[in-house]
Amino acid sequence: MKRRTKIIATLGPASSDEATVKAMIEAGMDVARLNLSHGTIDQHIELLGQIRRIASDVGRHLGVLADLPGPKVRLGTFADPIDLAPNDEILLEPGEGPSRKGHFTVGYESLLSDIHVGDRLAVGDGSIVLEVFDYTDNALKARVLFGGSVQGRPGLHIPSDRLKLSTPTEHDLRLLDAMVEQDIDMIALSFVRSAHDIRRVGVEPAPRGPLIVAKIETRAAVENLDGIINESGAIMVARGDLGTECSIQDLPHLQKEIIGRCIALGRPAITATQMLESMIMAPSPTRAEASDVANAVFDGTSAVMLSAETAIGHDPVLVVSTMASIALHADREFNYGRWGKDLQREHLSERQGEDSSVTDVMTMATWQAAREIEAKAICCISQSGFTVRAIARFRPKAPILGFSPEDRTIRQLTMSWGATPIKIDRIDDNATTVLKVLELAKTAGHIRTGDIVAVLGGTSAASRATDTLRMVRCP
Ligand code: PEP
Repeated sequence: MKRRTKIIATLGPASSDEATVKAMIEAGMDVARLNLSHGTIDQHIELLGQIRRIASDVGRHLGVLADLPGPKVRLGTFADPIDLAPNDEILLEPGEGPSRKGHFTVGYESLLSDIHVGDRLAVGDGSIVLEVFDYTDNALKARVLFGGSVQGRPGLHIPSDRLKLSTPTEHDLRLLDAMVEQDIDMIALSFVRSAHDIRRVGVEPAPRGPLIVAKIETRAAVENLDGIINESGAIMVARGDLGTECSIQDLPHLQKEIIGRCIALGRPAITATQMLESMIMAPSPTRAEASDVANAVFDGTSAVMLSAETAIGHDPVLVVSTMASIALHADREFNYGRWGKDLQREHLSERQGEDSSVTDVMTMATWQAAREIEAKAICCISQSGFTVRAIARFRPKAPILGFSPEDRTIRQLTMSWGATPIKIDRIDDNATTVLKVLELAKTAGHIRTGDIVAVLGGTSAASRATDTLRMVRCP
């Protein structure tokens, strides 16, 4: 069985050279993530070009996700790592200069007015916590509650209800324009609070524009979840900031809830942050990390994401192959039959009637028919990829082959659970296209003569709805 859960890996200093990117693709990276919080836009554009060249050389479809920084507040750069111990005192001063021992600069102008005595601020992944106990004319005085080592340019988590900045920022919009010029496949929006934040991005709907991935990392986003999912192309459970914003004991439950609602609405869900964190240094993950990856698969995640593990870790290729083998094993154990039935009972039955769309009923019929007859594959012909994502939410046991004439749809499907994207030259009338699809699937080794296959598509290229299901024996 081929792995169904997709892998997104962040590229950084440890993984930007040609040989490493190539080896990461071969090890199982489906989507490369560019973290626009670090580096310059020119560096990212150059890396994007390089990734596309390498993917084309190795003959693989690879999606690229550009992650906008959002109103993320960061500390000024530390030239060397600094250890912080409980009760150490630190001055926090607004500004962009470097940070040094005992005196940190904070890239947030309104720090002094927005943060109050008694507020707790988390640094980096949230394990270091500072408490503000006093202020001077130009700085806050904070005490270390939980210590650790700080290095580079770590984030400073300011509770989102205190933060006056909204997303996308002016800087985000400039980065977005530059990335849209490069035909970027997917854009992640940080610190989303409402559906309105997504609308402000203002790009063409996918696939003419990038698929928008809303990062769920604020309390407000959890409260406005359905509205945000409806406006987005995909969702990321950004556990780093979400774990700081919410109680840590809530995080596993929020992860399940967010993934469940997102999949029911036919959008891919990404589980992110610290999945194999110890592999930044170590050659194998902890037992807890291996379980975390497998449990995210059982929660129904579409993709699992690597951040620092591949961006600055000591062996990015090993991290990707480790994640690929844990995810594949979990995919084999996944309860496919139960997932589809639960989805139908818990989510879709309540939408029956006015709200259920042609896509809802056609994908449900396809899933049921493919299951009954034990079809060898579900071939889905789609311009935008929407129907492929809609069929994926049932988690069918049969492989999903997503056919599209749109290059960007093909690259966007690299993030979609279980979907193997296959380029088709164009969509003709249904009879011609079905034959073409079967031929392509057979040539690529996905099906053989005599196999029963479900083919879902439209009656013609002009038909906007996916309204035709055929169960065919492969000639
Ligand atoms: C997160 O907070 O979990 C996350 C993915 O966002 P970033 O890596 O941009 O901090």
